[in-house]
Amino acid sequence: MTINLEHLKGGTYYFRLKYSNVGLYMFKKHCVLIDTGSSEDEAKEIVDYLLSKDLTLESILITHAHADNLAGAHYIKQKTKAKLYASKEDSVIIENPKRSTHITMVSEIREIETTETDVQGDAEKVIHFIPTKKKVMQHIVLKHEKCIVDAHLVPEKQFSMTSVKHNFEIVNLHGHSAGQIGIVTPDKVFFIGDALYSSDELAENPIPYAFDVSKAKKTLDYLLKSKYTMFVSTHGKPYDFSITGDVYSNQRQIKMLEDTIIMHLSMPKTTDELVALVLESFDIEENIPNFYLISATISAYLDELKKAKKLKAIHEKGKTRWFADF
Ligand SMILES: [Zn+2]
Repeated sequence: MTINLEHLKGGTYYFRLKYSNVGLYMFKKHCVLIDTGSSEDEAKEIVDYLLSKDLTLESILITHAHADNLAGAHYIKQKTKAKLYASKEDSVIIENPKRSTHITMVSEIREIETTETDVQGDAEKVIHFIPTKKKVMQHIVLKHEKCIVDAHLVPEKQFSMTSVKHNFEIVNLHGHSAGQIGIVTPDKVFFIGDALYSSDELAENPIPYAFDVSKAKKTLDYLLKSKYTMFVSTHGKPYDFSITGDVYSNQRQIKMLEDTIIMHLSMPKTTDELVALVLESFDIEENIPNFYLISATISAYLDELKKAKKLKAIHEKGKTRWFADF
């Protein structure tokens, strides 16, 4: 397989990989990677490419600690002398993969299923969840190897290359993960991780993953006012000029999910009962992987709506139920 390196602007490029985009900034023979792809195989292709061009990889910058951005880091670090950088919050997950609780849980459930159905080859490394009925919602749950982060990236503080004083802006894009950051290359190309789902992504995956809904909303507001004109998200095509339309789509989707949750909680329900109803409302197949992935996001919404005093929790007879507090 040949790796696709696409030019964006100046010294900024990106690798268009199967599941995710990886940024590459180069100046003379030195370079910096933004994210690492979703598997060791992809990481190998990246390293082979860099070697074939005689490029020295100085640093790997991670937008956020999800395996489709991170799973190649272990291999690339091993094969190059590059240092790994990430936000303080997401470094906890990078250095302790098991802390990513819902992903670990889904992976483990899926591994049991995979073993039982005797799927061969590398199936345990790259796990696809493609519901066969209802809305096609493709979850790819990948695992990353434990990796030591060499130093933290801090929002509002610039990151500088070691060989030359070329600076990258580091931006707070928290919400999708605890410490997601955006990275702006010296050419003003803004790598935004999963801060924004494209309209195509939303059509397939109508409930964007959120760790902290309030921060995800702030991030969308920030993107709306952003002065930059070229954006690269983890998935899909880069945005050249404007992201406004897709920011509005994401905001509408958040509002729709909040309204759906409140509607279903006119009568008290447990989180599991609510998740089942939300899956039904968004026409997403109910299966274990979908259930756990969406549960994590719904829990973040329950927290958000409780803080906004739109919901109450009641606990009785060993069960916590939520209801809309009109
Ligand atoms: Zn992500």
